Amino acid sequence: MLVQDPSISPRGTSTEFMAKKPKLGQNFLVHPGAAVRIAEALGDLSQQTVVEVGPGRGAITHHLAARARRLVAVELDPDLAAELRGAFADRPSVEIVQHDILTLELSSLLLVPGEKLMIIGNLPYYITSDILLRLFDQAAILSRVVLMVQREVADRVAANPGSRDYGLLSTTAQLYARVEKLFTLPPDAFTPPPDVYSTVFRMSMQPRFAELGVEADQFIPLLRQCFAQKRKTLANNLKAVGYDHETILKALADSNIDPQARAEALPLETLAHLHRSLQTQ
Ligand code: SAM
Repeated sequence: MLVQDPSISPRGTSTEFMAKKPKLGQNFLVHPGAAVRIAEALGDLSQQTVVEVGPGRGAITHHLAARARRLVAVELDPDLAAELRGAFADRPSVEIVQHDILTLELSSLLLVPGEKLMIIGNLPYYITSDILLRLFDQAAILSRVVLMVQREVADRVAANPGSRDYGLLSTTAQLYARVEKLFTLPPDAFTPPPDVYSTVFRMSMQPRFAELGVEADQFIPLLRQCFAQKRKTLANNLKAVGYDHETILKALADSNIDPQARAEALPLETLAHLHRSLQTQ
């Protein structure tokens, strides 16, 4: 189930910056100590298959290679992939795959039935949203995910109801995982430096669909409708997608939601209740 969150912007927002953004989101981590902290955030890797998204010049890769039972590093840039193959030639536990992470079926990397993958990466920020959506889509085969993203994106992923940042991205991520923000790095932790701060966060995958009594392919589209226009009330957002007034009022009352409420005030449990109520009206 894919969701689009137009509020996720690529690294940097000004037209001027967009014109000179580094190729393939290549801002390499150079901060002493940060790479090992990121690798350690996945926990004990001695029995794990770890997939690194965008290893680049290998800043995090070296720490993962020393810890993981098996490491698959997926790099789109053929020159960087070739350099990494050379650097890890003497490590049979490390595979360098030159591929677009957005079109790679993660299930094709599983060797043992029932095995789950851990995912890690200092993401190429220009496709953060697409990568997150691909990961949610393949959540069933993931156990833990540690990602570095633009700080504002991490704030949205981890936001609680009632906060300015709470929206479609928060609810979607928190449907699939327990989310923890870990630490933030300044632009000069990278070369070339981006024009934004970066935050590392961890997702422990624990899909909540069964507990909330909802199906991903029906509930996530409803969430998209609820958060379509954040300044509108929930009732008006639902009206805009074709629900009639009577049905909306009944479902809101049944779910104990104030008719003037906005979706950003409501926890997932209440939104799930609303979804079930709308289905039975
Ligand atoms: N991990 C390195 C580090 O921390 O220094 C590099 C991080 S850099 C922000 C993002 C990396 O993702 C780059 O090496 C870039 O070439 C790679 N990349 C960009 N688009 C990609 C894609 N679609 N699939 C896989 N890798 C990609």
